[in-house]
Amino acid sequence: MAEPTAPAGGVVVRVMATGVCRSDWHAWAGHDEITFPHVPGHELAGVVVEVGDGVARWTVGDRVTVPFVCGCGRCAWCLGGNAQVCLDQQQPGFTHWGSFAEYVALHAADTNLVAVPESVDFTTAASLGCRFATAYRALVGRARLLEGEWVTVVGAGGVGLSTVMIACALGGRVVAVDRNPEALAVAADLGAEHVLLADSSNVPAAVAALTGGGSHVAVDAVGSEQTCADAILSLRRRGRHVQVGLLPPMGGHPRVPMERVIGWELDVLGSHGMAAADYPDMLALIEQGLLEPQRLVERTIGLDEAAALLPGFDQATLAGMTMVDPAR
Ligand SMILES: [Zn+2]
Ligand SMILES: [Zn+2]
Repeated sequence: MAEPTAPAGGVVVRVMATGVCRSDWHAWAGHDEITFPHVPGHELAGVVVEVGDGVARWTVGDRVTVPFVCGCGRCAWCLGGNAQVCLDQQQPGFTHWGSFAEYVALHAADTNLVAVPESVDFTTAASLGCRFATAYRALVGRARLLEGEWVTVVGAGGVGLSTVMIACALGGRVVAVDRNPEALAVAADLGAEHVLLADSSNVPAAVAALTGGGSHVAVDAVGSEQTCADAILSLRRRGRHVQVGLLPPMGGHPRVPMERVIGWELDVLGSHGMAAADYPDMLALIEQGLLEPQRLVERTIGLDEAAALLPGFDQATLAGMTMVDPAR
């Protein structure tokens, strides 16, 4: 593929690390509007190598990362600090060529780029942009988790394990649910107080027994009708559910137990990444060592291996995050 050039207001970044995510699998499986040829990849960190016209804050050589949702920088949502719901958003690897490559073009650099501190390596920085930041925003910005509250995390993949780590760091008490015992062992290692194997067991009843009537907060980190319902039904009265796992309506919209939402006054919240403007608080916790996203990175592979891994990624039983080094 030809190397990209910097758009007006944007930059080209040399990709030093990029993550493999279930969202890449959704795109590969045809759940997004993609035109071919296409380059996936949306969780990246690297070095600015070219700066387009009109960029004020960045120069060649800067170490940077981006949220997977890049705002336009002009609409009311971007100007209000909510680029994650921008009207005219760009998503590398979805709306344009992404970071499974040596170089990637990024738009509206002054709105979307985040400086990576010297103390944070590229692999760690790349792991933040989608799953870790989404988990952080789900708990802090959306559920407004309080110390001592119970959190049910359904799914212990990349975003689920991020949620476990962040919830524990914030003083939450975590029940982690997954169908993979290996992933549950990692969740326990990261601080989950209880782990539940989601085989044939009644997840909501088990959570209620463990937490004295249900959790205060639940996160569906998978995205299926079953996991969404399990998360919602695991809540106590007036609990808050955050939907993080994608639920594209391929087979129709999922059934959600709305009678419980009404009767128990549950809050059902969505979370869609996190704007660059909200990164500093999260990066401060990482620099202080209170959050250790690098613990979630299990393996680094090359682009060829990533291409082989992606088609089966929805069925993968790998614990932790898989990162790609394009130079490998
Ligand atoms: Zn992702
Ligand atoms: Zn915008």
